[in-house]
This record gives sequence, C-alpha cells and structure tokens, in this order.
Amino acid sequence: MASYSQFLTKEKEDELRSIANAIVAQGKGILAADESTGSMDKRMQSIGAENSEENRRKYRQMLFTTEGLEKHVSGVILFHETMYQARERFQKTDDGTSFVDVLKKKGIIPGIKVDKGVIPLAGTQGEGTTQGLDDLNARCAQYKKDGAQFAKWRCVHRISGTTPSHTALVEVAQVLARYASICQQNGLVPIVEPETLPDGEHDLARCQKITETVLSYTYRALNEHHVFLEGTLLKPNMVTAGMSAANKPSNVEIGLATVTALQRTVPVAVPGVVFLSGGQSEEDATKNLNAINQVATKKPWALTFSYGRALQASALAKWAGKDENVKDAQAILIHRAASNQLAALGKYSGDPNADATASQSLFVANHAY
Ligand code: 13P
Repeated sequence: MASYSQFLTKEKEDELRSIANAIVAQGKGILAADESTGSMDKRMQSIGAENSEENRRKYRQMLFTTEGLEKHVSGVILFHETMYQARERFQKTDDGTSFVDVLKKKGIIPGIKVDKGVIPLAGTQGEGTTQGLDDLNARCAQYKKDGAQFAKWRCVHRISGTTPSHTALVEVAQVLARYASICQQNGLVPIVEPETLPDGEHDLARCQKITETVLSYTYRALNEHHVFLEGTLLKPNMVTAGMSAANKPSNVEIGLATVTALQRTVPVAVPGVVFLSGGQSEEDATKNLNAINQVATKKPWALTFSYGRALQASALAKWAGKDENVKDAQAILIHRAASNQLAALGKYSGDPNADATASQSLFVANHAY
C-alpha cells in the first residue's frame, strides 16, 4: 500500500467539515446568485434593463438585503464582481457595507464561483470541459482572505445517443477532483457540480443511468485525489426526463429515481447534496425537492437546494429594474426560499396561490452560467 503525506491537517478538516455541515443544516439551502456578466445580460434583457455594473449591483442588493433571508438560506454563491461590490449608502451614517459583510452580518455564508466557464473538448461530439485550474490556487487563497468559505465549479454533460463519452467522463471527473483538492487546501468547501443537462428527448431511466455513471466517475476521481469528502458538497441535477421527452414523469417518480441514483453512487461521508434547478419551473423545482425528501428509504445526506433560476425568476420579473418594486420582489424571494426549505424537510404541501410565473419553465437550451 503506497503511503502519502496527509492531505489536510486535522484543523483544516474540522474547519471544512463544519462549513459544509452549516450550509445544509435545518433544511436551509443556497441561493446561487453567481451568474456571469454574460448570463446577467440575458436576465437584464428579460426585464428590459441595461446590463450595467450598477444595475447588477442593485439587483444583487435587492436579493441580499431581503429581510429574513437567513431563516431559509444558509449560503449565497457570488460572482467575482459581486464579491467586491457593496450596498449603497442609504443614509449619511451608512458606510456602504460590502456584500460579503451584508451576508456575514445575517449569518449567511458567502461562497464564490471559481470556474471560468465551459469550453469545447476537442475530439468529442460537442462535449465540453471547464477551464480555470491554472491560477485557481492563488484565487482561492485570495477569496478565502476576503471572506468566502465555499466555492462552486460547474461542469456539464449532455445526453445523446453517443454521449457522455468515456473521454468526457474522465476529463470532467479529473477537473472536478483537482478543483476540489485545491479548494480544500485553501480552506474553501468545494461544491462539486457535474451537471447532466436536461436537453433532449431521453426518458427518466436513461437520465438515471447517465447520472449514476457521471457520479461514479466523479467519486472515483475525488477519492484518487484524496479529497476529504466530509468537507465537500455535491451539486447534481435531479433525475428527470429530457425537456423534449414524450412522457413527463411525476414528482414522485423523479424523487425515487433521484434518490436511487444517489444511493448507488454518493458516499455516506458526503454531508449534503444541494440540487441545481436546471430549467425546471420554480414550482416543479420545489415539488421535486419535496418528493425527493419524502422517499421512504435510506438517505444519509441532507438533500436541499442550490437554485439559481428557480429562486430568482419571479423576483427578477417583479423587480424589473425599479427601486419601487424592491419590497415586492423581496417578498417573492422569501416565499420561494421558505417553500424550498419546507421541501428540503419533506413538508411542502403545494401552493394554492402560486401565480403563473412560478409554473413557467425556465429551460434554456444548452444553458451556460
Ligand atoms: P440553476 O438552478 O438555474 O440551474 O443554477 C444553479 C447553478 O448554480 C448552476 O451552476
């Protein structure tokens, strides 16, 4: 048996474990507000607002200053620009608190997107890998100093007759393992995100099999890199049928397929699974999370949310770039966050007053973040 020097000190392990556990405590989850400037362009266009730095700042300010957000949301993922932005001075005495401090004061843990986007993987049929490893160590060290406690890195797989290929499965797993290892050395909990996209006509069973395969490659690589699993979180897709599938499975079927895939592949050492919403409507993302938590079987991990679109879509539409709408938009965000917390505890009983916006699909083909 080869020996190797210890990957992390006991103190670092304890720190990582406690950050990861805090993020998934009490049915709380993550607000993924780390849209890149390019993704924000689409969001701003949808409300007819200019994608200026100031509008992005105002939008994030609306989200982060929501009263009571900390009751349902334990962590927020920031984009680099937002990490160094601040709240505006409402009064002369207000010093323009940085967003990182705004969140910390509420007891919300700041996180940071550290990947630099998906790029094509040559020699494959339209598959990709994710870039950003070269200077990752230095960036993680700086983000930790500046208050981040966890990080996110998104990789994607697409389902077709011939994909994901072995090449892409190995590449993505290796990249995620290197990223996770570098984060942990710098005291950041890595959120490991191998997303299987919902684009396509495939059925539930095929998505389940592919998700199991992707997760199995992922944990093999994490183990080969000696990643401390107790100090990580997994951010997968839920197991659903493709967006263009002929038959739509029920919430209960999605719940069972998702939990089964996790049981077969995710080690018990992992403290929590924080699902992405992946283009589901806000209501579907909440109902499916609830169904997942209601499956009566072995579930050794917290199963909660790390939603971007499914937490923000209605709030963004209500805000529409106008100061006078801030309070109403915040009320919508709180409603969604509270509903998802209930779902993470398996206690969501639906929303008879759900407006049409909450049931609208948020699917974007070949989604980039
Ligand atoms: P969605 O919930 O909009 O899929 O995004 C979550 C996320 O952070 C993807 O990386």
